[in-house]
Amino acid sequence: MRIAIIGAGFCGLAVAWHLLQHQQDFPDLKIHLIDSKEIGHGVSGMAAGLLHLYSGAHSKLNRMGHEGLQETLKLLHLASHTLGQSVTAQDIGILRLALNEEQILDFTSCAQRYPQDTEWLDASSSQKIAPGCAHAPGLWIKQGITVYSALYLQGLWQACAQQGVQFEQRHIASLKETEHFDITIVTAGADSKRLPELNTLPINVVKGQLLEMTWPQEVPALKYPLNSHVYLTMTETRTSCFVGATYERNTLDEAVHLEVAMQEILPKAYQLFPPLQQAQVLNCYAGFRATTPQHLPFIKRLSAKEWVLTGMGSKGLLYHALFAKKLVQQLK
Ligand SMILES: Cc1cc2nc3c(=O)[nH]c(=O)nc-3n(C[C@H](O)[C@H](O)[C@H](O)COP(=O)(O)OP(=O)(O)OC[C@H]3O[C@@H](n4cnc5c(N)ncnc54)[C@H](O)[C@@H]3O)c2cc1C
Repeated sequence: MRIAIIGAGFCGLAVAWHLLQHQQDFPDLKIHLIDSKEIGHGVSGMAAGLLHLYSGAHSKLNRMGHEGLQETLKLLHLASHTLGQSVTAQDIGILRLALNEEQILDFTSCAQRYPQDTEWLDASSSQKIAPGCAHAPGLWIKQGITVYSALYLQGLWQACAQQGVQFEQRHIASLKETEHFDITIVTAGADSKRLPELNTLPINVVKGQLLEMTWPQEVPALKYPLNSHVYLTMTETRTSCFVGATYERNTLDEAVHLEVAMQEILPKAYQLFPPLQQAQVLNCYAGFRATTPQHLPFIKRLSAKEWVLTGMGSKGLLYHALFAKKLVQQLK
C-alpha cells in the first residue's frame, strides 16, 4: 500500500502519524510525503502558536474543541518526546483583554458559562499576569497553550521519519503526478484549491501577515500570550515577539506587504500593550489560511483513491490532529 500525502504542514504530518498507528490495516505500508517547501517553511511553520478553545471575536467555545485539543495534546507530547525538548512554552494560560463594551459582554459571558476553563479578571489582576498591558479586565483561559510551531513540525516529522516515512521536496502541479500511488491524500492547506482537480473546493483563502518585533527594553518578557483584537506572544528565544495577524480577503498575492501589515496590526497592538511602541519590526511573514463557511475543516473523498483534508482556518493547531485521525478511520 503506497500512500502519497501532498503537503507537510500540521495536517500532512498528522495524517502520516495516524496512518502509522494503523499499519495492520494497510499491508506493507509506504508513506511518501511531498511538499514544495522544506518542512516547517509553509504556513503551519509560521503559525503564532496560540492553542485554546475560545478563539474567535466573541470567545465562544469552539465546536469540537475539546476533542480537538485532546488529540493535539497527544501529538505535542509525541513531538516533545521525540526531540527531547518541549515544543510548547512552559507557562500555561492565555489572557484575552476586553478593550471595549462588546468584548466585556462576550468575555464575561464566556467566563460565566465555562468557569472550569476560564476566569474573569479585573484590570489589576490582568496587570499581574501581563505587566505593562492595557489597564483593562480580561478573560483568563486557564489551559491556553503556546506552541512553537516550527519546532513542533520538526518533532512530528522526526517521529514519522523514524518509522520509515519518506519526504520529497517537489511541487505537485496536478494529481496525475501521483496516479501511480494506491492512495493520494491532499493536505495542501489553502493551496489545495490551486490543483486543477480541486479548483471547486468550497474553501475561501484569507491572507494573514504576522510581525516579529524586538521585545521592548526594561519590560519583563510576557509569561503568557495576550489576545484581544490582535495577539502578542513571545517567540521561543523570548527575546522577540510575534504580533498578529492581518485578515486580508480578496487577494491571492503571496508577497509580504509590510506597510499593510503594520497599518492593520500596530495601532491595535499598541493599545493592547503600550510598551510595544518602543519596539522595532524585525520581520514580517505572509501566508494563506483556508476557511470554510461552517468554520470547521472538512474531509472529502475526491475519487476511489483520492482524498482531501483542509479548511483549518485560524485553528489549525486545534483541529489538525482530530481531523487527521478521522480521515485515517475513513480510509481503513
Ligand atoms: C499569520 C498566521 C498566523 C497563524 N497563527 C495561528 C495560531 O496561532 N494558531 C493556530 O491554530 N493557527 C494559526 N494559523 C493557522 C494555521 O497556520 C493553519 O490553520 C494551518 O497551518 C493549516 O495547516 P495545513 O496543514 O492544513 O496547511 P499548510 O500549513 O498550509 O500546509 C500545506 C503544505 O502544503 C504544501 N503545498 C501546497 N501546495 C502544494 C503543491 N501543489 N505541491 C507540493 N506541496 C504543496 C505547502 O508548501 C505547505 O507546506 C495562522 C495562520 C497564519 C497565516
